[in-house]
Amino acid sequence: MRAKGFVIAIDGTAGTGKSTVGKAVAARLGYGFLSTGEMYRALAYSVFAKQINPEDHDAVLAAARALRFTFARQEDASLKMFVDGEFLGPKLHLEEVGNVASRVSTNAEARRVLTEKMREVGEEGAIVMEGRDIGTVVFPDAEFKFYLDASAEERANRRFKQLQEAGEKPNYDEILRLIQERDYRDKNRAAAPLKPAKDALVIDTSHLTLQQTIDTVLEKLPRHAS
Ligand code: C5P
Repeated sequence: MRAKGFVIAIDGTAGTGKSTVGKAVAARLGYGFLSTGEMYRALAYSVFAKQINPEDHDAVLAAARALRFTFARQEDASLKMFVDGEFLGPKLHLEEVGNVASRVSTNAEARRVLTEKMREVGEEGAIVMEGRDIGTVVFPDAEFKFYLDASAEERANRRFKQLQEAGEKPNYDEILRLIQERDYRDKNRAAAPLKPAKDALVIDTSHLTLQQTIDTVLEKLPRHAS
């Protein structure tokens, strides 16, 4: 236990419900919830805005160093992120930004800069942190580690339904292709590749509802965690 509580790491592939699960678990424990992908997206946004080539190692590193993050705890447990005092919100979730995020996140030195910033947020504990390398790199000493996975087909199905419900006309094959591409990039980069920590509990959510996944995580945590 740290000054305020435990660090709970939730890693895994894209589209496995890590954020929804993490937020629900944090709310139950009275912990904060941080989605670290938002920080990579903020770097991507800055790179995009400054018209930096995402492959330009030094310029991306300088952009990472220049980011000033502040966080405000929300009622739903999430930590609302401000970059240089500005809330970027939905802008970070644009398709292009996600794409650039997965490219700049291969920059090992920029990763080190963001990793330090994540440690500052979580060092006192009482936090659920979601990402790709929380249990392996950011907090290898996290008290609890989970790794969520599901088949690419199941994740494509879920995304397909979400988009359909939002009134769009999605293309299943295209969604599946993008998911497989992103998995490949995340798992095969040299710096902090996506993989379960040796001491993580791997949960295959392919045949679980979100609530069942949340319950599986909560069952592993001591009741007095909060
Ligand atoms: O989770 P999200 O889709 O918002 O993450 C955006 C990108 O940031 C991902 O494609 C992933 O490559 C990268 N990322 C990372 N390490 C983390 C969190 C996200 O490399 N801890």
